[in-house]
Amino acid sequence: SKLTRREEEEAIRRSNALEQDGIGSLRKVSRQEYLKKREQKKLEELRDDIEDEQYLFDGVKLTEAEYRELRYKKEIYEIVKKRSEEDDNTNEYRMPEAYDEEGGVNQEKRFAVAMQRYRDQGAADKMNPFAEQEAWEEHQIGKATMKYGSKNKKQISDDYQFVFEDQIDFIKASVMGGENIDNEEATELLEKSMAKSALEKLQEDRKSLPIYPYRDQLLQAIEDHQILVIVGETGSGKTTQIPQYLHEVGYTKRGKIGCTQPRRVAAMSVAARVSQEMGVKLGHEVGYSIRFEDCTSEKTVLKYMTDGMLLREFLGEPDLESYSVVMVDEAHERTLSTDILFGLVKDIARFRPDLKLLISSATLDAEKFSDYFDSAPIFKFPGRRYPVEIHYTKAPEADYLDAAIVTVLQIHVTQELGDILVFFTGQEEIETAEEIIKHRIRGLGTKIAELIICPIYANLPTELQAKIFEATPEGARKVVLATNIAETSLTIDGIKYVIDPGFCKMKSYNPRTGMESLLIAPVSKASANQRAGRAGRTGPGKCFRLYTAYNYYNDMEDNTIPEIQRTNLANVVLSLKSLGIHDLINFDFMDPPPSEALLKALELLFALSALNKLGELTKVGRRMAEFPLDPMLSKAIVASDNYKCSDEMISIAAMLSIGNSIFYRPKDKQVHADNARMNFHTGNVGDHIALLKVYDSWKETNYSTQWCYENYIQVRSMKRARDIRDQLEGLLERVEIELTSNASDLEPIKKAITSGFFPNSARLQKNGSYRTVKHPQTVHIHPSSGLAQILPRWVIYHELVLTTKEYMRQVTELKPEWLVEIAPHYYQLKD
Ligand code: ADP
Ligand code: MG
Repeated sequence: SKLTRREEEEAIRRSNALEQDGIGSLRKVSRQEYLKKREQKKLEELRDDIEDEQYLFDGVKLTEAEYRELRYKKEIYEIVKKRSEEDDNTNEYRMPEAYDEEGGVNQEKRFAVAMQRYRDQGAADKMNPFAEQEAWEEHQIGKATMKYGSKNKKQISDDYQFVFEDQIDFIKASVMGGENIDNEEATELLEKSMAKSALEKLQEDRKSLPIYPYRDQLLQAIEDHQILVIVGETGSGKTTQIPQYLHEVGYTKRGKIGCTQPRRVAAMSVAARVSQEMGVKLGHEVGYSIRFEDCTSEKTVLKYMTDGMLLREFLGEPDLESYSVVMVDEAHERTLSTDILFGLVKDIARFRPDLKLLISSATLDAEKFSDYFDSAPIFKFPGRRYPVEIHYTKAPEADYLDAAIVTVLQIHVTQELGDILVFFTGQEEIETAEEIIKHRIRGLGTKIAELIICPIYANLPTELQAKIFEATPEGARKVVLATNIAETSLTIDGIKYVIDPGFCKMKSYNPRTGMESLLIAPVSKASANQRAGRAGRTGPGKCFRLYTAYNYYNDMEDNTIPEIQRTNLANVVLSLKSLGIHDLINFDFMDPPPSEALLKALELLFALSALNKLGELTKVGRRMAEFPLDPMLSKAIVASDNYKCSDEMISIAAMLSIGNSIFYRPKDKQVHADNARMNFHTGNVGDHIALLKVYDSWKETNYSTQWCYENYIQVRSMKRARDIRDQLEGLLERVEIELTSNASDLEPIKKAITSGFFPNSARLQKNGSYRTVKHPQTVHIHPSSGLAQILPRWVIYHELVLTTKEYMRQVTELKPEWLVEIAPHYYQLKD
């Protein structure tokens, strides 16, 4: 709800009054004092709410619903904790941690504080139109929350006051970097690069990059060695310049130059930049290739792509014949695909002496790469890094989202101009933060400089992605809200302040159960230092860490665990098998995956009939490998041939591949949006069929934008689904599956889904939760599901997501006899 005019004026008046006080724009109130005051306010409020029963959880007052919620969560965490103690190999299943004042780990407190945050913010009101998961969960879970939400008005106007009082105390701890800086020289270069025509200026810019002085030496080293490990600071020009240098001296006459990136956005954005620098159209000489999107042509000689795409290219071109150079970039990220690529490119380098192989990394532990690639030489060049002051919080901040927002405002009000970069864990957080910052900034009055908010995450539309690179107007400040894409993949110039809450989203996999889940986990020291480094690219900077120095030194891992050791390997195993690599145990991994995870992957592929008993690829498996999808989803498509519904199945698969950005709920029209959404669920058909209905209805309106608008559906997502569907249709043809449709009967479609997802089945428990069938674990239907209120006895789910609970997302009702019919080797009838 918006503030009334009066409230707004009051807030502005107050903030101006504070400014005019002459005490500066911020009143210094110690955190202790502030907390005490806040506690008092809360007590007063609670007194108004005397009918509310009070429950205490770790000293925080909660309503009954919240209390039960926390108890429940505690149980789950304890189960997981116990499990990982039982089995040493399962320590991959890591939980996000919070720290108490002594620096100890206190999970319950984290929950309690998180709960408090929802209440304080009045979650219902702060919900942003596109947020899905947490917002939904809150919406569904807590009537208590709603009640607080209704008090929101009063609370918001108080918030304005807190913007000024709710300070976070930081301690300046150390200064990082500052070597290799010749300030005069840098300024000179900067001045030189001003006032030129666009292309000329881009050329000047290129010459001012730290890599430029080493151009000839680097080219010589590449000439002299087949494999070279290249190490240079993030932003020094590795990704954008090295392929261009190679092109300039003629490597592209012999074949393409391929450069892999761990992230889609990076591949797109870097290709766009390089095409600008070369003055060519994107998709001509310079192009990119990411899953479901190929922006290259016959002309393309510099090809940026995701590491996953190069992996797929091996399927069609096992010796990468069309390439003269392969650059495995951002090697330090150690994504699953990059790790597998290492093994494959190392192998082909042996019988293709003409192929040049570059492994580039932003971190200094290059020895490991060198060792792996038969002692390949390391080419290190110094970066230009200005000193960055590191500040830690005095006390731990359990609620990092709020702390980050407060810090942004604090910097904006107290620190000299210069852009801010904040690291969040994902789209939902970024959107929430954007909303709240916008809201709070309005209360700061007109004397404060303009604050331009730029979000960046993988699903952000391309036009908006470009916005983060636009120069900040004079007198304004930009704040970039990013996922860890901005850690090393993308460099944004002009960042002076970095805020690092210390968390990221991580896939975690329990090899014992074969279950995979997404969760929020603390970053490593290496990541934290990369993040801090972003503040010192174009001048001295500051990094505000929302955790204590104690946490940094004692609790954070040195390096992020490579993805290969914490993920489901079924996809990779299927790809390797279809490349003819059978002996996976002896595959040349840089860091081998846990053998249990490898075994689980083989087991799953066997259960899906992709492998036979001897571990060889079957015809089904060969077909599955053609689809750039998760093996379970590929299997559902391949199986749809038997059920004569491949037409429907590829629509469903395309819709599932979009993720969760299909429906949106504008703040002021939530009821309408929910009704529109539930229309597709008529007859409790389940989420998969509902997605199909959405797609088909859209198609019936001849892909109308107006229709999307009326139904609260994001047209952009739908267009993407249509593209993906078209490609899947092409792949069907390639694996010789006829396009068949079965419009009248839903059962065959559900059976086709079951053929792929039977390992993901769960059964209703008396208390309304579910238990997964194969490896019993308590899970819940995600509140966004059309079946969340129905609670069928048996369900099959698409994926698990761990947020406040372990949730099943995209759920369909199942008849238990299908399990025995479809996967008799996996399930046997008991009762
Ligand atoms: P590295 O790979 O060594 O981290 P990059 O080659 O990605 O460095 O970046 C070099 C410079 O190019 C960066 O400092 C940045 O200023 C500029 N740059 C890169 N991508 C873009 C882009 N999409 N838009 C504008 N500038 C960019
Ligand atoms: Mg790079």
